Amino acid sequence: MPTRYDLDRDALADLLTGEPRYRVDQVWDGLHRQLAEPSELTALPKALRARLDDELPAALTPVAESTDRTGETVKWLFELAGGARVETVLMHYRDRTTVCVSSQAGCAMGCGFCATGQAGFQRQMTTGEIVEQVVRAARRSRQDGRRLGNVVFMGMGEPLANYDRVWPAVERLHRDLGLSARHLTVSTVGLVPGIRRLAAEDLPVNLAVSLHAANDALRDTLVPVNGRYPLSVLMGACADYLRAKGRRLSFEWALIDGTNDRLSDARELAELARTLPLPAHVNLIPLNPTPGYATRGTPRDGVELFRRRLDDLGVNATIRRNRGTDIDAACGQLAAKVELRRRPAG
Ligand code: SAH
Ligand code: SF4
Repeated sequence: MPTRYDLDRDALADLLTGEPRYRVDQVWDGLHRQLAEPSELTALPKALRARLDDELPAALTPVAESTDRTGETVKWLFELAGGARVETVLMHYRDRTTVCVSSQAGCAMGCGFCATGQAGFQRQMTTGEIVEQVVRAARRSRQDGRRLGNVVFMGMGEPLANYDRVWPAVERLHRDLGLSARHLTVSTVGLVPGIRRLAAEDLPVNLAVSLHAANDALRDTLVPVNGRYPLSVLMGACADYLRAKGRRLSFEWALIDGTNDRLSDARELAELARTLPLPAHVNLIPLNPTPGYATRGTPRDGVELFRRRLDDLGVNATIRRNRGTDIDAACGQLAAKVELRRRPAG
């Protein structure tokens, strides 16, 4: 059964066959603009509300919710139909509010440092499951007196490995939730065919490429998919994306102690960035610890040193605050913790 946000407008019209025409707009706007549940659409007759409640069930069942001490970060663990679990993180910054959404239950890309990668792939998420994460975060933001303005596809999963469901979700966020394409960011491990498809779309979203290494030998060990799309091919796709979109491209770089935080790494990264037609921005984040990966993240001083080195080499880099490590807000980590707790002791 399709869930509340799986239906497009035509499918909703089919569901409302026999009702007056204007009901379609009323329900569609209610779900997307007012962020309402069917039961809250008081302009509808009671019987119709009840029917929609029944026939348009929510896709996500909250299993756990945690808020950091300051209330700036909220993290949900949701269960999907079939039992798979995904997470969503809402972050209130001083000047903006951003939600980080999942695009797959699990991930097949196998990056060893990533909790989601360690757990493996479970299933694709539907468009409705993706959109509903944003709707729930937008509702919470409204309660918190904030307006959700940004969406990043940096939760569980590889968005470009679920392109046919992720892209309609992106379009829905833009057209029906009214989010600007400039404020939507798709993050990828570097799936070149997906980047090329993105470049051909009308909506110019931001692209984040999780680079982590600027030479193939090292990247092969951190990001297995580099074997299929090595750096020269990946950079070619990034260059074409920039030419097609003129949008900001960012490189994500999780700093791993003694592994990709050396002077030589900064130099290689600067060299790679210079091959692009527009300057790329680098986001640095110290690696979050995960159960399946032994090497620690770069300590604070090393992170700052790496940033300064990039700066000296002419590369703009920002250190991303490790949002809510006190509530396990790194990729895949809340899910991993709950799994651990569910296992019998010993
Ligand atoms: N699959 C996509 C998007 C989800 S991962 C991608 O890889 O880009 C979102 C980001 O979290 C990526 O940049 C990923 O490299 C990073 N990440 C994964 N595990 C991490 C960890 N343990 N510490 C810090 N960043 C991590
Ligand atoms: Fe998948 Fe991204 Fe994690 Fe790699 S870092 S395993 S691509 S979610």
